[in-house]
Amino acid sequence: MPPPVFRFAPSPNGFLHLGHALSALINADLARASGGWLLLRIEDIDAARCRPEFEAAIYEDLAWLGVDWEKPVRRQSEHFSDYRAALDKLDAMGLVYPSFESRAEIAMMVAGREARGPWPRDPDGVPHYPGAAKMLPASERARRMASGEPYALRLDMQSACAQVGPLTWEKSGDGPNGETGTITADPAAWGDVILARKDTPASYHLAVVVDDAAQGVTDVVRGHDLFHATSVHRLLQALLGLPQPRYRHHRLVLDDDGRKLSKSTSATGLRELRASGLEPADIRRAIGLA
Ligand code: GLU
Repeated sequence: MPPPVFRFAPSPNGFLHLGHALSALINADLARASGGWLLLRIEDIDAARCRPEFEAAIYEDLAWLGVDWEKPVRRQSEHFSDYRAALDKLDAMGLVYPSFESRAEIAMMVAGREARGPWPRDPDGVPHYPGAAKMLPASERARRMASGEPYALRLDMQSACAQVGPLTWEKSGDGPNGETGTITADPAAWGDVILARKDTPASYHLAVVVDDAAQGVTDVVRGHDLFHATSVHRLLQALLGLPQPRYRHHRLVLDDDGRKLSKSTSATGLRELRASGLEPADIRRAIGLA
């Protein structure tokens, strides 16, 4: 058996906090215990929010924590052509369409639907895209794209699900007792997800799937907030003919009010904790790692 390959994949749009420390350390511990590898991926597709100083801080904070990763690091901003190739493949399968509406226009369409009865929301609570742009004739689409109008590229979820049929994914060692099992994927719960925007060449969902395959990741270990997103990732893997990793979704570090930590709360930032004199062993204890 080849050694397992883990990865930690932060976005350089802020400084790392205790939640990132938990994720990075769990991955590093699992890689060490299994004789596997830990890769680091910088998820910097969103050029408007990512900054070089945050990326530099990621390397510094992880090294301070005692996390060691394989080089070179994969930076998403250096792989736009890979995401383009995946999009082209999905497009050739007839599964991608442009939608031109602004957020406000989509909110109005949704309000109209909701006035008539219940309208589905995705697992994050966001209303499904009402699909109006799917009806546009091809000539109209081409004309609007050529005219420079901004658009997002969406996955035609219904057709995509119909092409691959029922899907499952394997969870490994999830939960306090290390449960394993087969989970039924439910990508349709997300509606017509965005695959790319005019100003960002790939969505998180598309890039993560392409990258995990390109990096040979066998074990995706990340926070429980991404549990439901795994269904979309399985669907994209099936459509693109990519291998499926095992998935483990770990508990989240919550603040005193029970909310997920945010990059803007300095009280739980690794830099601040380090400056206040804490050692890596204190961080491990604070997040419940031995
Ligand atoms: N870049 C994502 C984040 O910082 C993690 C994505 C993943 O692990 O799949 O939340």
